[in-house]
Amino acid sequence: MKATKKMNSEFVLRACNVYKSYHKDKIEVPVLRGVDVDITAGKVNALVGRSGSGKSTLMHLLATLDQPDSGEIHFCGKRIDNAPRAKRDAYRNQDIGIIFQFYHLLPELSAIENVLAPMMIGQSLWNYFRNRKDAKRRAEAMLDRVGLLHRATHRPAEMSGGEMQRAAIARALMTDPSLLLADEPTGNLDTETGESILELLVGLSRDENLTIVMITHDDSIADNADVCYRMQDGLLETNGKVVRAA
Ligand code: ADP
Ligand code: MG
Repeated sequence: MKATKKMNSEFVLRACNVYKSYHKDKIEVPVLRGVDVDITAGKVNALVGRSGSGKSTLMHLLATLDQPDSGEIHFCGKRIDNAPRAKRDAYRNQDIGIIFQFYHLLPELSAIENVLAPMMIGQSLWNYFRNRKDAKRRAEAMLDRVGLLHRATHRPAEMSGGEMQRAAIARALMTDPSLLLADEPTGNLDTETGESILELLVGLSRDENLTIVMITHDDSIADNADVCYRMQDGLLETNGKVVRAA
């Protein structure tokens, strides 16, 4: 069910009437209370809301890292939340890329080794070694795309926050996903660096027709999205504010 980037399905990724609660000391804490969201293909889709409003919870469900209590997640028109584990693994490893506020790079690996990591996970060791020249070329191309080729051999400790986020974006792009999920990608960066990461993400969406779901608590970041949904009281405003017409 690989979505091609050229595909302009209106239904690239949807959440339908999703509920999710956490349980703390036998007390139920409802977080998502019937969320509907319809991600627009090839656009930057912002999910904005204050801290604790349930944005990361929703992203984990969209990424099949967790399951809703009720409701459904659909990818390319097919239900994914209850798909067999192998299908969900393939979806996470091939169809989507994920980036986080704190980059989640492996500290002992260089930038290019971090970018190569998904290729090592996504295939047998034998295939990896057979294809490693192509993989390395692709990793270099991805590092170049995010403006980090000159830091290819640097480890995370030798990089700035913005550089680490660029490496994480290059890693997420390695498997040529049709969709990028970004949880507060600028949340740990100063304003200027955050803006440059935002610019990179918007450029990727424009140039490669990449669909981006960008979570942020920051209205000024969300204002740069094509479509903006607001999370409030466990619900998403269904008439998502269109910042820039499709
Ligand atoms: P956001 O990303 O918008 O800041 P989250 O989705 O992380 O919000 O969290 C929403 C609410 O759910 C918060 O009140 C948080 O404390 C609670 N929460 C998140 N994860 C868990 C968990 N694993 N166990 C219990 N409560 C959680
Ligand atoms: Mg969060």
